[in-house]
Amino acid sequence: MAKKDLLTYSLKHIASEVSQQWTKRAFRFNEGYKRFLDASKTEREAVATAVKQLQENGFRPFRLGDAIKPGDKIYFENRHKSLIAAVIGTEPIAKGIRLLAAHIDSPRLDLKPNPLYEDSELALLKTHYYGGIKKYQWTTIPLAMHGVLMLSDGRKVEVSVGEEDKDPVFYIDDLLPHLAQDQMKRSGSEVIRGEELNVVVGSLPQSKEDEKQAVKQHVLQLLNDKYGFVERDFLASEIEIVPAAKARDVGFDRGLTGAYGQDDRVCAYPALQAVLSQESPKNTVAVVLADKEEIGSVGNSGMQSAFFQYFVADIAETLGSNERTVMMASKCLSADVNAAFDPTFASVSEQMNASYINRGMVLTKYTGARGKSGASDANAEFVAEVQHAFDAAKIPWQIGELGRVDLGGGGTVAGYLANLGMEVLDAGVPVLSMHAPYELTSKLDVYATYLGFDCFLKTL
Ligand code: MN
Ligand code: MN
Repeated sequence: MAKKDLLTYSLKHIASEVSQQWTKRAFRFNEGYKRFLDASKTEREAVATAVKQLQENGFRPFRLGDAIKPGDKIYFENRHKSLIAAVIGTEPIAKGIRLLAAHIDSPRLDLKPNPLYEDSELALLKTHYYGGIKKYQWTTIPLAMHGVLMLSDGRKVEVSVGEEDKDPVFYIDDLLPHLAQDQMKRSGSEVIRGEELNVVVGSLPQSKEDEKQAVKQHVLQLLNDKYGFVERDFLASEIEIVPAAKARDVGFDRGLTGAYGQDDRVCAYPALQAVLSQESPKNTVAVVLADKEEIGSVGNSGMQSAFFQYFVADIAETLGSNERTVMMASKCLSADVNAAFDPTFASVSEQMNASYINRGMVLTKYTGARGKSGASDANAEFVAEVQHAFDAAKIPWQIGELGRVDLGGGGTVAGYLANLGMEVLDAGVPVLSMHAPYELTSKLDVYATYLGFDCFLKTL
């Protein structure tokens, strides 16, 4: 007969389950995480930061067709926007890969191809938002500009403006309440409309002479002086507008991290660290950091692209197996966030199946919406295998659904990896205010997730 405390299922705050040393290690781990966040405001920057860490840890760049052997540490960079890193195991590759799949793109505002205009002596940039945002949240906060300028002379210049204390920031204005009577009658998704997300980038004319468009001219002159940039170069450039704020501790006890872009860099960072720390693993282990998840995993840097499949096919053949054998034997944690239960908006969750801040890594058996439509529903056998491994390793974990039935829902990259034949389970960190310009996570959950990823790579 089961002991009374094992008969029923209930969850506690991680702090009641772990030692003070564990908590100390968790806080230290989050210092690295915050540095990663500040250095990685875009998918391109996340790839660059990850590549730097990979190189420092002895990983070498891999091209399709390269010779590999057990113990090799390799990484495969795909168009500066997505990345695979792997450590080749000592077991035959036919036993499959142990894969962590996270995404490194986050909701943001992209500049339109022809964005710059002047209106009433203000210079502004038109944007097209990327991913699911509440548009009104992006007004009246300091914004930074990141991306690549593609110059007419063939040069590519990386830009980041708004992150250093000495930098200027950018800004989207909103109406004062005194004159917002009509605006406040709009529905929530229309309080700020897509075409109202215009970024203020200048206000001073170039000279005293009464020129037309003198403020816009001035902005262009400054860009030209600094980068050799002309207006036409906007047409090919990729510029993302993101919140200018840095990652900060939140709360008197510093238990939470507030930052932009934690969906899904809060899973990408621990997943990368877990692979970085594997020395001569039994099975081949890998992490994929994918782009474009927030808009459907599309494009040649998204998880629906064949770049991942080609990589697996290539190493499978080199190591004497084939793609289908390896895919069918592979196991994957789709490393993505879940919505943490929010006491202020309790009604959107079903509390028995919601994930909670500080109850550990969240396993999400299925996502989808309205009758599990579009869900990748993990197989019971695989869910059990993961849970038993976590229990044996004393990893704090919880189970979670994304919101109550019939309300909304969401998806991750899980389905695209499941399509390739591998076992897949969604696993990651609960987030408060997901997709907001500044999101909240728990330091203890982030560390538990890292330990979970490490345990998965080592034992499954
Ligand atoms: Mn996500
Ligand atoms: Mn998301």
